[in-house]
Order: sequence, then structure tokens, then C-alpha cells
Amino acid sequence: MQSNPESRQDDPYDTVFIRRSFRSLVRWGIVILSVINLLHLSLFLSYGSRWWAFSALLILVQAPLYLLVINRRSFPVFIGGLALLILAFGIQLSVYCTQFGARAGFHYLLFAMTPLVAFSGRIRIWHKVVLCVLLMLQMLALEQRTAPDPDISAQALECLRLLNLASAFSVISLFVLRHFMVVAGMNSKLEHMAAYDPLTGMINRRRMAEVAADELDHSFEKHSALSMILADIDHFKLINDRYGHQFGDQALLHVSQTIMQIARDGDSCCRWGGEEFLIMLPVTDLQGARQLAERIRVEVSRNVLRLNGHDVGLTLTLGVVELQPHEGLDSAIARADEALYAGKDNGRNQVMLGQPAAQ
Ligand code: GH3
Ligand code: MG
Ligand code: MG
Repeated sequence: MQSNPESRQDDPYDTVFIRRSFRSLVRWGIVILSVINLLHLSLFLSYGSRWWAFSALLILVQAPLYLLVINRRSFPVFIGGLALLILAFGIQLSVYCTQFGARAGFHYLLFAMTPLVAFSGRIRIWHKVVLCVLLMLQMLALEQRTAPDPDISAQALECLRLLNLASAFSVISLFVLRHFMVVAGMNSKLEHMAAYDPLTGMINRRRMAEVAADELDHSFEKHSALSMILADIDHFKLINDRYGHQFGDQALLHVSQTIMQIARDGDSCCRWGGEEFLIMLPVTDLQGARQLAERIRVEVSRNVLRLNGHDVGLTLTLGVVELQPHEGLDSAIARADEALYAGKDNGRNQVMLGQPAAQ
């Protein structure tokens, strides 16, 4: 197996996507941390605690530096910057907790770190569980802290507690929401990639199997006609050999666009294989399907493909079948394929109707 230097092959939770997403989560974390520090700073200032305002300012001015370091591609630089940030943040938290005790609620911010641990790459699941348990123990230990004589008013302490609670709540919500959006976006991209052919934009064979199964059920239920066209570009290998693969790709695109333009709204057009297309026509009988196939054939043969100074005429051979009552997809495709090859044997550039299935 070819090894991927960027991710561990044996760990499904440590992929390039998870690592990239984690980096962007850390960037978000730094921005959120800066906002929280700014709020602490203004609260300390408004209660006249200059020294504590200065300590919050210290962390705040470092934030752009961490952003710079963490944006670097190199992993050791990234992890070094992250470790420094966690250290600075940890020291700040423990100083505040010692000074103000649990009443100021700084330990709630530890709780807000759990999504960062859970969404990170390169850490195995059970390591993450251990880290989260450690965070919880640390938070519980800090919860017991008392500071008999904090040099800040009771009102300021209450404001700090509310601010820290709201910050922890907002950080967790933002991280979870953002992660949901990234994963949902990635999932819909993957679903699209799994269903569509990247060259032509038509659905692929896998998706067509699902569409066809639905159409088959629908046509049995409604007793409506269902037909299929299998189309294959004639002498396509020659086109590739003569004009190159890139030209061949443009020819495939050209034919697929013609098919999609002629097909109706409810029809499903699929790139079935290399230079083969399958078109599913609901509520269409054999004669209707034959007419549509003929229109596609005429349109493709009429439009000469002009590319890189070459004028190339393309033709299609098409096999057409109407599904018989209780006929399966495989049987219908096999009949369309037989008709297609009969058309090839008969000189190509033509529409051939399939033979009825043997009862
Ligand atoms: P026939 O008229 O009998 O169908 O002959 P043909 O040359 O079209 O059929 P054959 O099956 O011998 O060749 C199909 C060719 O299609 C061979 C393959 O290289 C080419 N092909 C398949 N997929 C692609 C693709 O994505 N891009 C390009 N450029 N060529 C492709
Ligand atoms: Mg073929
Ligand atoms: Mg062909």
C-alpha cells in the first residue's frame, strides 16, 4: 500500500481533512481567546484593577504572533506555537484562579477546551479521552479553590463569573457549530463526488443504479412505461489515437452536453462507462424513446466538433428498449447492449430497437 506521509493509514480519525480542519479550528480559537481577553481587559479596567488589566493585555498582544506561527505549513512549528499558546493560557488561568478563587469562574474556560481536544488530528481516540478526563479533573480541582481576600470587589467578581460562564458557553457552541458546518459541507462534497462524473457532470453509474431502482418501482406502481437508451460513440479509440486524449475528453463533453440538452426534465442522463451513456426515460414507450434517440443521433452527427484547428465529425450508435412488466434493470440493459452492438455490426451511426425479453 502506498503510504500517505500526511496521515496515519491505520487511524481513520487522523486524516488530512481532520488535520486541516483542526488548524483552522485553532485559528478560530486564537481569535475567540483574543475576544475573551479583550472583555476581561475592559472589565478589569472598568473596576480599576490596572495590574490585572495589564496581565490580560499581555496575552492579547501575543495573539497575532501565535496566528503567524500557526499559519505556517510546518507541523513542528504549528505544534510548538500551539504548545506555547496553551502554556501561556494555562499560566494565565492558574494565576487568575489562585488570585480570585473559583468564584470568578475562570476554570469554566478549561471546559471550553474539550472540543479542541476532541477535533484534533494526530491524537488517538483514547489519548483524547485521557486528555478530556484530565481537563475535567483540573476543572474540578480549580472549582474547590478559594481566595479569601481577592483584590477586586464582589461585584467585579460576579461580573467575571458571568463573563467566564458566557465565554465557555459561546466557545463550545461556536466550535461545535463550526465543526458541524465543516463536516456537513465536506459530506455534501463527497456525496456529489460519489454521484457525478467530473468530466461531463452527468450522474455516474453508481448513482444511476439508485435512480433506475426508484424509476423501476415507480413505473411498476403506476403501471407507466419506462424506457432506456444506451448510446456509444463510434470509433472513439480512433479519435483518441488521432487527436490525443485531451481532444477525446472534449468530444465526450460535447456529446454529453448534446444529450443533456435534448433529454427532458424527468429523464436521467448517466455516463455509463468510458464513451457510453445511459439515458432513463420515465413515462416513455419504445416509440417515444426511439424518437428521442434519433434526435440525439442526428444532433451529434450534425454538429462537427471544432477544436485546435481540427474539424471532427462524431457519430453515435444507440440501443433502445422499453422495460417489460417485471423486467429487472440488468435484463433491460443487456437487451439495450445487444441492440447497440447489432447497430455497430450494421454499420454504426444508427438507432436500433432491442428484442423483447424471453419470457
Ligand atoms: P466502437 O465504434 O466499436 O464503439 O469503437 P470504439 O473505438 O469507440 O470502442 P472501443 O471500446 O474500442 O474504445 C473506446 C475508447 O474510449 C478507448 C478508451 O481509451 C476511450 N476512453 C474511455 N474513457 C475515456 C475518457 O475518459 N477520455 C478519453 N479521452 N477517452 C476515453
Ligand atoms: Mg464502448
Ligand atoms: Mg465506442
